[in-house]
Amino acid sequence: MDIAKWQAIEDILRDVLHTYNYLEIRTPIFEDTELFARSMGQTSDVVQKQMLNLCSQRRDDDGHLKLSGQSLRPENTASVVRSYIQQNLERTEGLSKFYYMGPMFRGERPQKGRLRQFHQVGVEAIGSQAQSPYLDAEVIALAVTILESLGIKDFTVKINSLGSAEDKENFSAWLREQIKPHLSKLGAEDQNRFERNVFRVLDSKNKDTRAVVDSLEIESAALSDESQRYFQQVLAALRSLNIHFEVDPKLVRGLDYYTHTVFEITSTALGSQDALGAGGRYNNLVKQLGGPDVGAVGFALGLERIILALPEDLDVIGVTPDVYIIALDEQSFPKAWQLLGLLRNESISCDIGYKIAPMKRQMRQADKSKAEMVIILGEDELRKGVVTVKDMQEGTQEEVPVKDNDYSVLIDTIVERC
Ligand code: AMP
Repeated sequence: MDIAKWQAIEDILRDVLHTYNYLEIRTPIFEDTELFARSMGQTSDVVQKQMLNLCSQRRDDDGHLKLSGQSLRPENTASVVRSYIQQNLERTEGLSKFYYMGPMFRGERPQKGRLRQFHQVGVEAIGSQAQSPYLDAEVIALAVTILESLGIKDFTVKINSLGSAEDKENFSAWLREQIKPHLSKLGAEDQNRFERNVFRVLDSKNKDTRAVVDSLEIESAALSDESQRYFQQVLAALRSLNIHFEVDPKLVRGLDYYTHTVFEITSTALGSQDALGAGGRYNNLVKQLGGPDVGAVGFALGLERIILALPEDLDVIGVTPDVYIIALDEQSFPKAWQLLGLLRNESISCDIGYKIAPMKRQMRQADKSKAEMVIILGEDELRKGVVTVKDMQEGTQEEVPVKDNDYSVLIDTIVERC
C-alpha cells in the first residue's frame, strides 16, 4: 500500500478528530495480558483465541523462575482506560476525549480484510460528564463524518441498546430460554458459546447458527424504562444530526464491557469481512479496572478496511516537492547545491538531481518527482548570470537573474508561486 496515501488519509482523520475536539493519546503496544482478559472478558473470542502473548521470565529471590505475561494489544480501549486511571484524570477532567491511531495485533488466519497486524483509528470519551446520550450520538456522528470525509458513502450504521448491567443479565436469561430448544442445531463452537456467553451466539457467522438466530423473534433487548428512555434520546440526537441508522435488536458486541448503546458500521464494498468499525458505551469498565465510577463511550474503525472501501476516484495527493533542481555540469552543481539549502531554509520542499547527467535524463527524473517547478543551472545560465525556472504545469519557462550569488530575487519568485 502506498504510504503517501496512508499519510493523506491520516491527515484527513486528524482534521476531523480535532474538529470534534478529541486529542491524541499514545499508549504502549503491549500491556499485561490480564488487562485485556479483565476488560474484554475471559470468554471473549479475542482473549480465548487471538491474543499474541509475550512471555518474560525472571527469577525471584529464591531462584524460582517467574513467568509474567504480556500481550500485544488486540485493541486499545483497555489501554486507554488503564492510562486514564493511572493518570488520575477524573480529578482534573470532567470529560477526557481521546483518539488513537495505530497497530493492533490478533493471532488469526490472515485473509482479505483480516490481518494479524492491522490498524485502527478510534476514540474514547471518558469521565463523569460522559454519561450523556449526546455523547453516544457524538461518537457515532464522528465515525460517520470520518467515513464521509474520505468519500465513503456505501455504509450502514446499525445500532442497538443492551441496557444497564442488570438489563443485560435479564436479556441474557431471556435469550438462553429462546435458544435452548434449538441448542443441538447450533454450530459446535456456538454450543460452547451458549454456555459461556449467550450474546456471542448472536454474533456468530456459522451458517447453522445464523439460521437459528434469524428465526428468533427479538423485538428489543430487555430494557428497563430508564434504559429505553436513554436509548430513545440517543436516537433523537442522531436524527437531529441527520445521521441515518437502522435499529437492529439482534446486534450485540462480542466484548463483555459494553452496556447501553452498541453500534456497528458495515459496508457491502468489503465482502465477507464487512465491518468497517464498531463501538458503544461501556459504563462499568473504568470502575471494573480499579478506577472511579465514570461513564465512557467509544469506537474503533479498521484502517485497512477503510482503504478497501475507498472510492476508486479518491484524489489523495501524495507528497511531492515544489521544486526540483537540475545542474547540467560540474561547475553548476555547487551553486545548485547552495540554492537547494537556501530554498529549504525558506520551507520550500525541494530536491535535486545528485548526478550530473544530460538534460533529457534529468528532466525525466524531475517529471517523475511531480515537482511543480524545475530550476535549471548550466553553462549558458552561468555565463548569462541567470537560472532557468520552468513551470511544469503551464509548460512555460523564464530566466531569473542571479548576480554575485545573490539568490534573493529568485527565492522571492519561487516563494510567491508556491
Ligand atoms: P473489533 O474490536 O473486533 O470490533 O474491531 C473493530 C474494527 O477493527 C473492525 O470492524 C475492523 O474494521 C477492524 N479489525 C478488527 N480485526 C481486524 C483484523 N484482524 N484485520 C483487519 N481489521 C480488523
